[in-house]
Amino acid sequence: MYEVPKYFPTTIVGSYPKIPPSEELIRKRKKGLISEEEFHELVKPSIKAVIDDYLEAGVDILSDGEQAREDMVAYFAERLKGYKGGEWVRIFDNVYFRKPVIVDEIEYVQPMAVMDWVYASSVSKGRPVKAILTGPYTMADWSFDLHYGDRRELVIALARVIRKEVEEFVKRGAKYVQIDEPALSTRPFKEEVEIVNEALHVIFDGINAKKIVHICFGKIEKILEYLLDFPIDQFDFEFKNSNFRLLPYLVEYGFDKELGYGVIDVHSTRVEDVDEIFNDIKKLVDTGLLGPEKIFVDPDCGLKRLPREIAVAKLKNMVKAAALAREKLV
Ligand SMILES: [Zn+2]
Repeated sequence: MYEVPKYFPTTIVGSYPKIPPSEELIRKRKKGLISEEEFHELVKPSIKAVIDDYLEAGVDILSDGEQAREDMVAYFAERLKGYKGGEWVRIFDNVYFRKPVIVDEIEYVQPMAVMDWVYASSVSKGRPVKAILTGPYTMADWSFDLHYGDRRELVIALARVIRKEVEEFVKRGAKYVQIDEPALSTRPFKEEVEIVNEALHVIFDGINAKKIVHICFGKIEKILEYLLDFPIDQFDFEFKNSNFRLLPYLVEYGFDKELGYGVIDVHSTRVEDVDEIFNDIKKLVDTGLLGPEKIFVDPDCGLKRLPREIAVAKLKNMVKAAALAREKLV
């Protein structure tokens, strides 16, 4: 078994550029031209290519690159009972996304993302692969609800089905479970954080794995003091894109959980160089807030919108910078 470095381990947030033929397979699956089983079988070479890129870069804790997911909400909505096919909604300008509709009680049917994780873990040369799931708050926020009529109730109903999926992962040996809640930073209010906190208890209480929540962009500092009560081991936040704006707030509130520390800008194709990333790691170390065993070095968010060669180049430099940090900052 691969041993994850004790200090400054490197990881990723989850998504990766789509590697052919994954997008074509997603389309075929949607049209019913291939079954769910065939789909997960045929997407394996894309997952393997992602893992090979991570291994080439030297990342410690991996993901399946979300090669099977065309978007983080629709993928799960299509595999749960209670949802029906969505409608296209305009987000801005000519950017549309399909908002799934909830028409009945949400029910768990069968494992949704577990098989891709099992395969990824079988080709990761012993490196751990994170189980990554879209959180109930984001699922609720990016769906049309025609059944529950109450956001809290809906979020908790989604949390119950997500818990079932988490149990399936842990049963198969997942050691890291990450819940992605990007929608929370779009509504940074105490009442919303409390709903998510309750949902996380539903998902994680009694689960034996490292419990991680990823939230990105938006005004996280407005809700940081409430976030610290979450029943989790690790937060994963974006820092690079916002020029480390959140850092002084972490110090102010005495943040003491593990931190997935985003040092790679996923909105820019510029490849950060090793010294730059090292200095960004040092920024956090210099605050004295967290020991190196609590700092997980990673990109701000998923890498899916970057060209693949840029994504690899960024990860390579990130891994080198973490190694340098182990040498000089421990
Ligand atoms: Zn993100």
